[in-house]
Amino acid sequence: MKSLIHLTAGLGLLLAATQASAWSQPTHKNIVKDALAFMNSSYATAEMKRAYQFYVGAAGSEVRAGEILRQAAYDVDDFKDTRLGGWWGGYEHAPVAGAAASLVNYTSYWHFINMSRQGDAHGNDHGGYDYRYRKVDGSWSGDVDWYAMVYLYNRELKKSDFDTTEAHYRQGSYSNWQEHYGDFQKAAFQPIDNLAKYWFDQFKNAPSLQTIGYALHATGDVAQPHHAWVTSGNGHAGWEGWVDDHYAREGLNNPVEVANRVGRYNPQHSIRDLLTQTAQIAYQRPEPLYDTSYNTRLRVAKELIPESIALTVSVLTKGANTFHGQGGL
Ligand SMILES: [Zn+2]
Ligand SMILES: [Zn+2]
Repeated sequence: MKSLIHLTAGLGLLLAATQASAWSQPTHKNIVKDALAFMNSSYATAEMKRAYQFYVGAAGSEVRAGEILRQAAYDVDDFKDTRLGGWWGGYEHAPVAGAAASLVNYTSYWHFINMSRQGDAHGNDHGGYDYRYRKVDGSWSGDVDWYAMVYLYNRELKKSDFDTTEAHYRQGSYSNWQEHYGDFQKAAFQPIDNLAKYWFDQFKNAPSLQTIGYALHATGDVAQPHHAWVTSGNGHAGWEGWVDDHYAREGLNNPVEVANRVGRYNPQHSIRDLLTQTAQIAYQRPEPLYDTSYNTRLRVAKELIPESIALTVSVLTKGANTFHGQGGL
């Protein structure tokens, strides 16, 4: 009975308290749109302008290129490629047989990178979501990760999703289905830089705006402190909703701030190193986990949104460079 109460309470709070474990999807779209515009601005280098021409030429117009890239970056939170459950009760890609997919979708468990620890169970330099190593929310009602863990206790990743989704994001690391994904409460999800590497490699093999657009979902999430600290609680959804609501109103995408940062990103570096560079900066901005005041949110967002746009410019530039045989690592 106790567990049933927990489950019900947990589910209610899951529904009430969380949105998708990601930037609200419109923020992903805004970041990509602003990165593309920046690459054709007076701040852009010749290399960035060439990359702009590459994407716009492929799509026929900036508007069309922006639409395809933005939509792909947005869609990654809606993938139905990660089902949790068990043979005894079936599997679902979101709570309540998928009914809560617009609020929390299990695919988002691939969207974290734990900057507070070195290494993970797979041999990555930084791990992804792992309930055991999350940043605990000490408030009485805010520990969304705990509610999710209760709901998902002893649930496993569906084997066919392990063989496809997980295999894609494994990126040469070591994985064992039951050891790493047999029980949610001790599951070790692959980190988001691996996800980005997978989609970027798909782009390299067969260039398309959609595949690099999928990689651009990661350039948004790594700039989100809750993703670098690994927590669904600590005001995760509230912060993302705030950024979404204030993006245009507060000019979070100031191109001068993007220009101040973009030179620190070297498109010759590997995609994973580029993403980790931004995740490290987001990790040094934990204030949104504890402080929901307007001024704090504004100050941090004015740093992290330009950082995310700068990273996105760098990854798009790297993509075009790769097409021209000059992609670096
Ligand atoms: Zn999130
Ligand atoms: Zn995400």
